[in-house]
Amino acid sequence: MLRAAGRAGAEVRQRVALERLLVERGRVCGALVREEGRRVEIRARVVVGADGLNSLVARELGVARQGRLRRLALVAHLEGVAGTGDVGEMFARRGRYVGMAPIGRGLVNVAAVVPGTEAPRIARDPEAFFAAELRAVPELARRLAGARTVREVMITGPFARRSRRVVVDGALLVGDAADFYDPFTGEGIFAALRGGALAAEAIAGALAAGEATAAALRPYVAARRRAFLGKWVLERIVAHGAACPLVMRRFTRRLAARTRVADLWVGAAGDSVPVRALFAPRQLAALMI
Ligand SMILES: Cc1cc2nc3c(=O)[nH]c(=O)nc-3n(C[C@H](O)[C@H](O)[C@H](O)COP(=O)(O)OP(=O)(O)OC[C@H]3O[C@@H](n4cnc5c(N)ncnc54)[C@H](O)[C@@H]3O)c2cc1C
Repeated sequence: MLRAAGRAGAEVRQRVALERLLVERGRVCGALVREEGRRVEIRARVVVGADGLNSLVARELGVARQGRLRRLALVAHLEGVAGTGDVGEMFARRGRYVGMAPIGRGLVNVAAVVPGTEAPRIARDPEAFFAAELRAVPELARRLAGARTVREVMITGPFARRSRRVVVDGALLVGDAADFYDPFTGEGIFAALRGGALAAEAIAGALAAGEATAAALRPYVAARRRAFLGKWVLERIVAHGAACPLVMRRFTRRLAARTRVADLWVGAAGDSVPVRALFAPRQLAALMI
Protein backbone atom coordinates (compact mmCIF):
# COMPACT_ATOMS: atom_id res chain seq x y z
CA MET A 1 0.00 0.00 0.00
CA LEU A 2 2.83 2.37 0.85
CA ARG A 3 4.52 1.66 -2.48
CA ALA A 4 1.22 2.20 -4.33
CA ALA A 5 0.72 5.51 -2.49
CA GLY A 6 4.24 6.57 -3.46
CA ARG A 7 3.64 5.62 -7.11
CA ALA A 8 0.41 7.65 -7.05
CA GLY A 9 2.41 10.74 -6.06
CA ALA A 10 2.17 10.73 -2.25
CA GLU A 11 5.23 11.68 -0.20
CA VAL A 12 5.50 8.89 2.39
CA ARG A 13 7.28 9.78 5.66
CA GLN A 14 7.67 7.03 8.25
CA ARG A 15 8.66 7.12 11.94
CA VAL A 16 6.85 10.42 12.33
CA ALA A 17 4.84 10.84 15.54
CA LEU A 18 1.89 13.20 15.78
CA GLU A 19 2.20 15.50 18.82
CA ARG A 20 -0.78 17.74 18.27
CA LEU A 21 -3.07 19.15 15.64
CA LEU A 22 -2.67 22.68 14.32
CA VAL A 23 -5.96 24.54 14.60
CA GLU A 24 -6.65 28.07 13.34
CA ARG A 25 -9.99 29.86 13.71
CA GLY A 26 -11.63 26.56 14.75
CA ARG A 27 -10.39 24.72 11.68
CA VAL A 28 -7.74 21.95 11.59
CA CYS A 29 -4.99 23.13 9.26
CA GLY A 30 -2.16 20.66 9.85
CA ALA A 31 -0.17 18.80 12.46
CA LEU A 32 2.81 19.30 14.72
CA VAL A 33 4.90 16.13 14.50
CA ARG A 34 8.15 14.77 15.88
CA GLU A 35 10.50 13.55 13.16
CA GLU A 36 14.09 12.43 13.81
CA GLY A 37 14.06 14.18 17.18
CA ARG A 38 12.86 17.50 15.72
CA ARG A 39 9.46 19.18 15.93
CA VAL A 40 8.07 19.82 12.45
CA GLU A 41 4.91 21.66 11.40
CA ILE A 42 3.06 20.12 8.48
CA ARG A 43 0.35 22.29 6.92
CA ALA A 44 -2.51 20.46 5.19
CA ARG A 45 -5.85 21.21 3.55
CA VAL A 46 -7.24 18.15 5.34
CA VAL A 47 -5.89 15.88 8.10
CA VAL A 48 -6.94 12.20 8.21
CA GLY A 49 -6.85 10.66 11.68
CA ALA A 50 -6.02 6.99 11.01
CA ASP A 51 -4.16 6.53 14.28
CA GLY A 52 -6.03 3.58 15.74
CA LEU A 53 -7.99 2.74 18.88
CA ASN A 54 -6.41 5.34 21.16
CA SER A 55 -6.46 8.00 18.43
CA LEU A 56 -4.69 11.18 19.48
CA VAL A 57 -6.48 12.97 16.65
CA ALA A 58 -9.89 11.97 18.08
CA ARG A 59 -8.80 13.02 21.59
CA GLU A 60 -7.39 16.35 20.34
CA LEU A 61 -10.67 17.02 18.55
CA GLY A 62 -12.58 16.17 21.75
CA VAL A 63 -14.73 13.56 19.98
CA ALA A 64 -13.36 10.31 21.51
CA ARG A 65 -16.04 8.43 23.44
CA GLN A 66 -15.74 5.29 25.56
CA GLY A 67 -18.65 2.81 25.52
CA ARG A 68 -19.65 0.51 28.37
CA LEU A 69 -18.18 -2.79 27.11
CA ARG A 70 -14.61 -1.93 28.13
CA ARG A 71 -12.85 -5.16 27.18
CA LEU A 72 -9.08 -5.51 26.93
CA ALA A 73 -7.04 -7.95 24.83
CA LEU A 74 -3.73 -9.64 25.59
CA VAL A 75 -2.07 -10.83 22.39
CA ALA A 76 0.99 -13.03 21.79
CA HIS A 77 2.52 -15.32 19.18
CA LEU A 78 2.97 -18.93 20.28
CA GLU A 79 4.80 -21.85 18.71
CA GLY A 80 4.25 -25.53 19.40
CA VAL A 81 0.45 -25.32 19.71
CA ALA A 82 -0.96 -28.83 19.18
CA GLY A 83 -3.79 -29.55 16.75
CA THR A 84 -3.87 -26.29 14.77
CA GLY A 85 -5.10 -26.47 11.19
CA ASP A 86 -5.69 -23.61 8.81
CA VAL A 87 -8.76 -22.20 10.56
CA GLY A 88 -9.30 -19.61 13.26
CA GLU A 89 -10.75 -20.85 16.57
CA MET A 90 -12.72 -19.07 19.30
CA PHE A 91 -13.17 -20.32 22.88
CA ALA A 92 -15.83 -18.35 24.75
CA ARG A 93 -16.41 -18.27 28.51
CA ARG A 94 -18.58 -15.94 30.56
CA GLY A 95 -17.62 -12.37 29.62
CA ARG A 96 -14.31 -13.38 28.04
CA TYR A 97 -12.90 -15.40 25.17
CA VAL A 98 -9.70 -16.62 23.54
CA GLY A 99 -9.15 -16.41 19.77
CA MET A 100 -6.44 -18.35 17.90
CA ALA A 101 -5.32 -17.95 14.30
CA PRO A 102 -2.39 -19.71 12.59
CA ILE A 103 -0.13 -17.12 10.94
CA GLY A 104 2.39 -19.40 9.20
CA ARG A 105 5.85 -20.80 10.00
CA GLY A 106 4.31 -22.81 12.85
CA LEU A 107 3.23 -19.68 14.72
CA VAL A 108 -0.23 -19.04 16.14
CA ASN A 109 -1.57 -15.61 17.04
CA VAL A 110 -3.40 -15.99 20.36
CA ALA A 111 -5.58 -13.26 21.87
CA ALA A 112 -7.32 -13.40 25.26
CA VAL A 113 -10.13 -10.86 25.50
CA VAL A 114 -11.23 -10.08 29.07
CA PRO A 115 -13.38 -7.52 30.93
CA GLY A 116 -11.70 -4.18 31.62
CA THR A 117 -12.18 -4.79 35.35
CA GLU A 118 -9.24 -7.22 35.11
CA ALA A 119 -6.83 -4.32 34.43
CA PRO A 120 -5.29 -4.27 37.96
CA ARG A 121 -4.56 -8.04 37.86
CA ILE A 122 -3.12 -7.74 34.34
CA ALA A 123 -0.90 -4.84 35.39
CA ARG A 124 0.62 -6.93 38.22
CA ASP A 125 1.89 -9.65 35.84
CA PRO A 126 0.63 -9.68 32.22
CA GLU A 127 2.47 -12.90 31.25
CA ALA A 128 1.09 -14.85 34.23
CA PHE A 129 -2.41 -13.47 33.67
CA PHE A 130 -2.29 -14.46 29.98
CA ALA A 131 -1.06 -17.99 30.78
CA ALA A 132 -3.82 -18.42 33.39
CA GLU A 133 -6.49 -17.24 30.91
CA LEU A 134 -5.38 -19.88 28.41
CA ARG A 135 -5.12 -22.65 31.02
CA ALA A 136 -8.68 -21.88 32.17
CA VAL A 137 -9.99 -23.34 28.89
CA PRO A 138 -9.59 -27.13 29.36
CA GLU A 139 -9.02 -27.87 25.64
CA LEU A 140 -6.40 -25.12 25.42
CA ALA A 141 -4.63 -26.27 28.57
CA ARG A 142 -4.12 -29.62 26.81
CA ARG A 143 -3.11 -28.23 23.43
CA LEU A 144 -0.78 -25.56 24.82
CA ALA A 145 1.09 -27.92 27.16
CA GLY A 146 4.18 -27.88 24.90
CA ALA A 147 3.75 -24.33 23.54
CA ARG A 148 6.12 -21.39 23.96
CA THR A 149 5.49 -17.65 23.69
CA VAL A 150 7.81 -16.19 21.04
CA ARG A 151 6.78 -12.56 21.31
CA GLU A 152 6.02 -10.68 24.51
CA VAL A 153 2.38 -10.36 25.47
CA MET A 154 0.97 -7.08 24.18
CA ILE A 155 -2.06 -5.40 25.71
CA THR A 156 -4.61 -3.31 23.86
CA GLY A 157 -7.93 -1.67 24.72
CA PRO A 158 -10.27 -0.69 26.15
CA PHE A 159 -12.57 -1.43 23.21
CA ALA A 160 -16.07 -0.10 22.50
CA ARG A 161 -14.72 3.23 21.30
CA ARG A 162 -16.77 5.37 19.01
CA SER A 163 -15.98 8.94 18.05
CA ARG A 164 -18.93 11.28 18.53
CA ARG A 165 -18.18 12.86 15.16
CA VAL A 166 -15.99 11.58 12.33
CA VAL A 167 -15.78 14.85 10.39
CA VAL A 168 -14.86 18.35 11.57
CA ASP A 169 -13.62 21.41 9.69
CA GLY A 170 -10.35 20.29 8.09
CA ALA A 171 -10.17 16.72 9.44
CA LEU A 172 -11.82 13.33 9.46
CA LEU A 173 -11.34 9.97 11.20
CA VAL A 174 -11.02 6.50 9.67
CA GLY A 175 -10.58 2.93 10.94
CA ASP A 176 -10.36 2.30 14.68
CA ALA A 177 -9.93 6.04 15.25
CA ALA A 178 -13.55 6.40 14.08
CA ASP A 179 -14.93 3.33 15.85
CA PHE A 180 -13.96 -0.09 17.14
CA TYR A 181 -16.34 -2.25 19.14
CA ASP A 182 -14.90 -5.70 19.79
CA PRO A 183 -12.48 -8.04 18.00
CA PHE A 184 -14.72 -11.18 18.04
CA THR A 185 -15.99 -10.76 14.47
CA GLY A 186 -12.53 -9.68 13.24
CA GLU A 187 -13.67 -7.06 10.74
CA GLY A 188 -11.41 -4.18 11.71
CA ILE A 189 -8.97 -4.36 8.80
CA PHE A 190 -11.76 -4.39 6.22
CA ALA A 191 -13.45 -1.43 7.95
CA ALA A 192 -10.17 0.51 8.03
CA LEU A 193 -9.47 -0.12 4.33
CA ARG A 194 -13.05 0.47 3.16
CA GLY A 195 -13.32 3.54 5.40
CA GLY A 196 -10.09 4.86 3.89
CA ALA A 197 -11.53 4.50 0.38
CA LEU A 198 -14.76 6.26 1.42
CA ALA A 199 -12.75 9.04 3.07
CA ALA A 200 -10.67 9.51 -0.09
CA GLU A 201 -13.84 9.95 -2.18
CA ALA A 202 -15.29 12.47 0.27
CA ILE A 203 -12.03 14.45 0.51
CA ALA A 204 -11.63 14.56 -3.28
CA GLY A 205 -15.21 15.83 -3.61
CA ALA A 206 -14.78 18.45 -0.88
CA LEU A 207 -11.47 19.78 -2.21
CA ALA A 208 -12.76 19.87 -5.80
CA ALA A 209 -15.64 22.05 -4.58
CA GLY A 210 -13.40 24.32 -2.48
CA GLU A 211 -12.53 23.64 1.17
CA ALA A 212 -12.68 20.50 3.35
CA THR A 213 -15.19 21.93 5.81
CA ALA A 214 -17.25 19.60 8.02
CA ALA A 215 -20.26 20.28 5.78
CA ALA A 216 -18.31 19.45 2.62
CA LEU A 217 -17.00 16.21 4.21
CA ARG A 218 -20.49 15.14 5.35
CA PRO A 219 -20.98 12.63 2.47
CA TYR A 220 -18.37 10.51 4.30
CA VAL A 221 -20.68 10.21 7.32
CA ALA A 222 -23.55 8.94 5.16
CA ALA A 223 -21.26 6.63 3.16
CA ARG A 224 -19.91 5.08 6.39
CA ARG A 225 -23.41 4.49 7.64
CA ARG A 226 -24.40 2.76 4.40
CA ALA A 227 -21.23 0.65 4.38
CA PHE A 228 -21.02 -0.26 8.08
CA LEU A 229 -24.50 -0.20 9.64
CA GLY A 230 -24.85 -3.98 9.25
CA LYS A 231 -21.37 -4.55 10.69
CA TRP A 232 -22.13 -2.31 13.70
CA VAL A 233 -25.27 -4.35 14.45
CA LEU A 234 -23.57 -7.73 13.94
CA GLU A 235 -20.51 -6.97 16.07
CA ARG A 236 -22.74 -5.89 18.97
CA ILE A 237 -24.94 -9.00 18.76
CA VAL A 238 -21.89 -11.29 18.61
CA ALA A 239 -19.86 -9.46 21.28
CA HIS A 240 -22.72 -9.59 23.79
CA GLY A 241 -23.83 -13.12 22.80
CA ALA A 242 -20.27 -14.39 23.23
CA ALA A 243 -20.29 -13.14 26.83
CA CYS A 244 -23.12 -15.52 27.71
CA PRO A 245 -22.11 -19.23 27.62
CA LEU A 246 -25.69 -20.53 27.41
CA VAL A 247 -26.52 -18.38 24.37
CA MET A 248 -23.18 -19.23 22.78
CA ARG A 249 -23.62 -22.98 23.29
CA ARG A 250 -27.13 -23.01 21.81
CA PHE A 251 -26.07 -20.78 18.93
CA THR A 252 -22.97 -22.78 17.97
CA ARG A 253 -24.88 -26.10 18.22
CA ARG A 254 -27.51 -24.76 15.85
CA LEU A 255 -24.86 -23.51 13.45
CA ALA A 256 -23.02 -26.85 13.58
CA ALA A 257 -26.24 -28.60 12.54
CA ARG A 258 -27.07 -26.07 9.81
CA THR A 259 -23.92 -25.46 7.83
CA ARG A 260 -25.63 -23.24 5.24
CA VAL A 261 -26.72 -20.83 7.98
CA ALA A 262 -23.25 -21.07 9.55
CA ASP A 263 -21.70 -20.10 6.20
CA LEU A 264 -23.98 -17.05 6.09
CA TRP A 265 -22.88 -15.89 9.58
CA VAL A 266 -19.21 -16.39 8.74
CA GLY A 267 -19.75 -14.63 5.40
CA ALA A 268 -21.42 -11.68 7.13
CA ALA A 269 -18.56 -11.43 9.64
CA GLY A 270 -16.16 -11.59 6.68
CA ASP A 271 -18.10 -8.81 4.89
CA SER A 272 -18.86 -11.00 1.86
CA VAL A 273 -22.56 -11.42 2.75
CA PRO A 274 -24.86 -8.49 3.68
CA VAL A 275 -25.84 -8.65 7.36
CA ARG A 276 -29.54 -8.28 6.48
CA ALA A 277 -29.37 -11.79 4.94
CA LEU A 278 -28.97 -13.17 8.50
CA PHE A 279 -32.28 -11.69 9.55
CA ALA A 280 -34.38 -13.04 6.70
CA PRO A 281 -37.30 -14.93 8.34
CA ARG A 282 -36.10 -18.27 6.89
CA GLN A 283 -32.61 -17.88 8.39
CA LEU A 284 -33.95 -16.78 11.77
CA ALA A 285 -36.36 -19.72 11.82
CA ALA A 286 -33.48 -22.10 11.04
CA LEU A 287 -31.68 -20.82 14.13
CA MET A 288 -34.65 -20.97 16.46
CA ILE A 289 -36.51 -24.15 15.51
C1 LIG B 1 -7.09 -8.98 19.64
C2 LIG B 1 -7.49 -8.39 18.33
C3 LIG B 1 -7.71 -9.23 17.25
C4 LIG B 1 -8.11 -8.71 16.02
N1 LIG B 1 -8.31 -9.56 14.98
C5 LIG B 1 -8.69 -9.07 13.79
C6 LIG B 1 -8.89 -9.93 12.67
O1 LIG B 1 -8.73 -11.15 12.77
N2 LIG B 1 -9.28 -9.37 11.50
C7 LIG B 1 -9.47 -8.03 11.36
O2 LIG B 1 -9.81 -7.57 10.28
N3 LIG B 1 -9.28 -7.19 12.40
C8 LIG B 1 -8.89 -7.66 13.60
N4 LIG B 1 -8.70 -6.81 14.64
C9 LIG B 1 -8.95 -5.37 14.47
C10 LIG B 1 -7.86 -4.71 13.63
O3 LIG B 1 -6.58 -5.00 14.16
C11 LIG B 1 -8.07 -3.19 13.64
O4 LIG B 1 -9.44 -2.88 13.51
C12 LIG B 1 -7.30 -2.55 12.50
O5 LIG B 1 -5.92 -2.78 12.65
C13 LIG B 1 -7.57 -1.04 12.47
O6 LIG B 1 -6.71 -0.42 11.57
P1 LIG B 1 -6.34 1.11 11.76
O7 LIG B 1 -5.44 1.42 10.61
O8 LIG B 1 -7.55 1.92 11.97
O9 LIG B 1 -5.54 1.19 13.14
P2 LIG B 1 -4.15 0.52 13.53
O10 LIG B 1 -3.93 -0.75 12.80
O11 LIG B 1 -4.14 0.50 15.03
O12 LIG B 1 -3.07 1.56 13.00
C14 LIG B 1 -2.92 2.82 13.61
C15 LIG B 1 -1.52 3.33 13.29
O13 LIG B 1 -1.39 4.66 13.79
C16 LIG B 1 -0.13 4.79 14.41
N5 LIG B 1 -0.20 5.86 15.43
C17 LIG B 1 -0.92 5.89 16.56
N6 LIG B 1 -0.70 7.04 17.22
C18 LIG B 1 0.18 7.76 16.48
C19 LIG B 1 0.80 9.03 16.64
N7 LIG B 1 0.55 9.83 17.68
N8 LIG B 1 1.66 9.44 15.68
C20 LIG B 1 1.94 8.67 14.59
N9 LIG B 1 1.36 7.46 14.38
C21 LIG B 1 0.50 7.01 15.33
C22 LIG B 1 0.13 3.42 15.03
O14 LIG B 1 1.51 3.24 15.26
C23 LIG B 1 -0.41 2.49 13.95
O15 LIG B 1 0.56 2.20 12.99
C24 LIG B 1 -8.29 -7.31 15.88
C25 LIG B 1 -8.07 -6.46 16.96
C26 LIG B 1 -7.67 -6.99 18.18
C27 LIG B 1 -7.45 -6.07 19.34
